[in-house]
Amino acid sequence: DMYMDRQNSLGRDYSQKADRERHAAALQKVDAEKLTSGPIVGGKLMAGTNAQDVTNPYDRSQVLGHVSEASTQDIDNAANAAAKAQIAWDRAGGSRRAPVLRAMADALEADMDRLVALLSREAGKTLNDGVAEVREAADFCRYYAMLAEKDFGGPQPLTGPVGETNRLVLHGRGVFACISPWNFPLAIFTGQIAAALAAGNAVLAKPAEQTPLIAAEAVRLYHKAGLNPDLLALVPGRGETVGAALVSHPVVDGVAFTGGTDTAAAINRSIAARPGAIIPFIAETGGLNGMFVDTTALREQVIDDVILSAFGSAGQRCSALRVLYAPKDSADSLIEGLKGALAAQVLGDPSDPASDIGPVIDPESRQMLEAHVKRLQKDAKVVARAMMPEGSERGDLFAPTIAEIPSPDYLEREVFGPILHVYRYDPADLKAVAGKLAARGYGLTLGVHSRIEAFAEEVISLVPAGNVYINRGVTGAVVGVQPFGGEGLSGTGPKAGGPNSLIRYASEKAISNNI
Ligand code: GLU
Repeated sequence: DMYMDRQNSLGRDYSQKADRERHAAALQKVDAEKLTSGPIVGGKLMAGTNAQDVTNPYDRSQVLGHVSEASTQDIDNAANAAAKAQIAWDRAGGSRRAPVLRAMADALEADMDRLVALLSREAGKTLNDGVAEVREAADFCRYYAMLAEKDFGGPQPLTGPVGETNRLVLHGRGVFACISPWNFPLAIFTGQIAAALAAGNAVLAKPAEQTPLIAAEAVRLYHKAGLNPDLLALVPGRGETVGAALVSHPVVDGVAFTGGTDTAAAINRSIAARPGAIIPFIAETGGLNGMFVDTTALREQVIDDVILSAFGSAGQRCSALRVLYAPKDSADSLIEGLKGALAAQVLGDPSDPASDIGPVIDPESRQMLEAHVKRLQKDAKVVARAMMPEGSERGDLFAPTIAEIPSPDYLEREVFGPILHVYRYDPADLKAVAGKLAARGYGLTLGVHSRIEAFAEEVISLVPAGNVYINRGVTGAVVGVQPFGGEGLSGTGPKAGGPNSLIRYASEKAISNNI
């Protein structure tokens, strides 16, 4: 069985003094360093252009380091070196590529404390989210190493007429541009690269503007793990400049993107406009994720799962729960329970083991969310907001919010952050209510809480989703266990962390031999 030899990465336990002390030491070290990120081409940090400070979203007065943007020349140099190095890497085959990815997984785990500290400082991740993220990054590397061996280790035999041998060979497409988001600045950044590399490609990686430091760490770890530096360049910068240059670059043979639906649509248009070239586009985007509860659901379990799904990672996961559909007969009781559970959440410094929820990523996000709450106060009903701790004006903390919405089509699009919308529905109207959600065109995660199989099956048949979770939360997909990704406005597939993940990073060659 292909999954038997794979082990998911292990974590930390911050209730243990030893783990807390290691964290404190790592944090102190990260704070003392002035980290630098910028274009890394041929394994070397280039001067780049347009240097900027990188600050802590919990406390904007803390400067963590600096980043400079990749210039056109940096991008060209990186692309040419990548195209050259890719040929031998592809020829080496999956079994020779896999050990490099496994060495990267080991390197990530060995650096766990430092990476968790940096994730909390640069991306506002709580410690548990940081640990989960490092583990996921390592899992991606090991999982794709396994797929490289399985699918790129040699030809797959095909049937054919007597005297003719037929075989199918998978190989890399060339140079991939990997464009990743700030919400998983290590796991998704590392995972896209690992997928592209496993399939035999070279990579130009553009991290999100908000999180270039952790990306530089990951690239250095890849190189330290033994990857030829020409096979992986870091090209930080804005979407309008560096992102645009990458997707229209003649050397780029494919684009992998995780981020907002609108950006994906814009990239898709640029790719379509490339003269004389058609290249694959792998997009994983947003979701308008619902959870349907019926009256047989276990109240306490629903409350726990909803709180974690809507407010964990400050709601900044594309898998996060946005709309809870509560049956009218138990809605009051559920909302009361959610209010109590929200009040018990600790909002604060994400680097403190006691915090459950950290800041949102930047002032623009915070302002967008505050504007949404204003709208909810006007034409919906805000039922609870978490308490803001002292000192919250130093950064981008945002008070998690629960609001009741008056109609099932109140929300038109994803609102990315810790706001839970609750809609009370009449079970007799399930079809119509679910239909309104389906009509928005997303299809990422879907939750069901019920003890009735037929109810779950009906909801699943009504709402498109790539990941369905019954009687549990809707976030935290585990590599190899819940391959992650959606359909419709939520993405193109293939899913990340699943048996088919590498297929669009590869070309297929069928060889019919009559010698
Ligand atoms: N894979 C993550 C999860 O299951 C979400 C990834 C994302 O937000 O892009 O929660």
